Amino acid sequence: MIPVVRTKKALARLVTRWRENRLSIGFVPTMGALHAGHAALVRRAAAENDRVLVSLFVNPLQFGPHEDYNRYPRALPADHRLAAAAGAAAVYAPSAEEMYPKGFHTHVEVEGLSDLYCGKYRPGHFRGVATVVLKLFNQVHPDRAYFGEKDWQQVRILEDMIRDLDVNVTLVRVGIVREKDGLALSSRNASLSPAERRAAPALRRALEAGRREAQRPHARARTIAAAVRRALSGTSLKAQYAAVWKGRLLAAATLGRTRLIDNLPI
Ligand code: AMP
Repeated sequence: MIPVVRTKKALARLVTRWRENRLSIGFVPTMGALHAGHAALVRRAAAENDRVLVSLFVNPLQFGPHEDYNRYPRALPADHRLAAAAGAAAVYAPSAEEMYPKGFHTHVEVEGLSDLYCGKYRPGHFRGVATVVLKLFNQVHPDRAYFGEKDWQQVRILEDMIRDLDVNVTLVRVGIVREKDGLALSSRNASLSPAERRAAPALRRALEAGRREAQRPHARARTIAAAVRRALSGTSLKAQYAAVWKGRLLAAATLGRTRLIDNLPI
């Protein structure tokens, strides 16, 4: 089985060995509870690099005080097997203390973008994401890092961070992996009740309604977003936002205690 490293020191030994052997490194940062969406990132990374490292870290910094940090699923043995099967060479699973020892107080803020859309509903979320991703980049020194388009705003924010801070990593975007009924795979889907799970594909269908509106001759961003909200209004999902942004139609909704996001190109 592939190794699991738990400390920065052990990770440094591993990646130094790879670098000395002139092996390129693909990096797939995750919060664990891996599914086929994560596997697609790992497989893509394995096809384009000599070695792939998958990190599993539920990052406390990106959760609000009333969010699901404690409830977030954790499944190291299964994640270890899935990462190996998809082509990873090692797994990095640091503790919160390893990443944020006492006295930690430096953060990365991608201004503006971080306050829109998901950022409005999750204050501090993208600051937590940008901070942990830059830390992981500095620990791993990857050639390429793989991120899913499911988190479209996250991808755009990290691209700006990489550009603005001259980070020497190529970000590779990977398309959204979905269930047969259209629901985007997410670790959080596991916390849906059976009834909520049956209702969840409505988010994707609402985005498709928005896309149909976008094809009408007089469509505006406003009417497209309204079409998404209208489609959600008859369902058990509660819309948070729907918006056209940088060639994408984005939406977020809550379903019971679970928050779902999705997006489509338009
Ligand atoms: P997470 O563990 O949810 O933080 O996600 C880790 C990475 O996997 C992020 O880059 C996500 O965008 C990506 N990802 C999560 N779900 C999917 C999916 N259904 N399709 C493609 N990528 C995904």
